[in-house]
Parts: sequence; C-alpha cells; structure tokens
Amino acid sequence: MSRKEETLRQMQAESEHEPFMRLAMAQARAAAQWGDVPIGAVIVQAGSVVAAAGNRRAVDGDPVAHAELLAIRAAAAAIGDWRLTECTLYVTLEPCIMCAGAIILARLPRVVYGAGDPKAGAAGSMYSVLLENRLNHQPQMVPGVLAEECGRLLTEFFRAQRKLGKK
Ligand SMILES: [Zn+2]
Repeated sequence: MSRKEETLRQMQAESEHEPFMRLAMAQARAAAQWGDVPIGAVIVQAGSVVAAAGNRRAVDGDPVAHAELLAIRAAAAAIGDWRLTECTLYVTLEPCIMCAGAIILARLPRVVYGAGDPKAGAAGSMYSVLLENRLNHQPQMVPGVLAEECGRLLTEFFRAQRKLGKK
C-alpha cells in the first residue's frame, strides 16, 4: 500500500471511530468526577452503543472494576449472549492484561483504543496478549484513535491529584 493510500485509510478509520471514542472519553470524564482514574469504554454493535462504562475501581473499592470489564459484562447482559462476536470495543487506554483476557474470552472481534500504556498495556506496549496468535481468538486492533486527547485526560487527572497532595 502506498503512503497516500495508507493516509487515506487512516483518515477513514478516524472518521468512523472518533465519534465512539468521544463517547468513551465522556465515560472517562465521568469516572474522574467520582474520583477514579479517567478511563472509559463503550461497546458498539451494528452502529449502536450497547454498553458504556467508566472505571469504578476506587468508587466501588473493586480492583477489577476496569471500564472494559464493566462494559463487556453490560454488553453481554444487554445482548443476552456472552459472545460479543458482532461488537467493537472502544476504550480510551490500551487494555491491561486482565481486560485483554476478558476481550479474548468475550470473542470481541475488534478493539479500538486511544492512548498506549507503556506501563501496563497488553496490546504490544508492555505485553502482547491481544496479539498472541497461540490463543484461539485474536481481535483486530485499531490503536491510537484520539490518542493525544485520551492521554491528556489522564495527565490532567494525575496533575490535579498531585495538587491535592494525593499520590
Ligand atoms: Zn484493565
């Protein structure tokens, strides 16, 4: 593929994915409102949002209440099937190893994420669980959609936390 074709394909992908990523960002902002690290996720089926969630680890005191996990559970409940084979997951931050496992178990065919996570990302930044071809399922990955804006939500949150004297 030529560079021009590649750029064009990138632009089409952006216009398709950006509106849903913005919805995931709204979930992330909601999480910051209740005091959690701003990470948000939405799950889309046939162009409609079937589930949306923000990170609830702190507010629920639940170590596994990541946005992706909550959205996957809500989507399965909404659809009435644990297999999310017709869905796309949008998440503002590269999934961790736990969420990568959940994505594979749910048979999600496509994952679109915003910012990369060099400290814990499981889509190639730190681990490559989502790129692992020994597993029975491998989702298509679309990285870096609105990455800068998604990342800024996190840096602004942590800066504000530091100002409040929290770590
Ligand atoms: Zn996670």
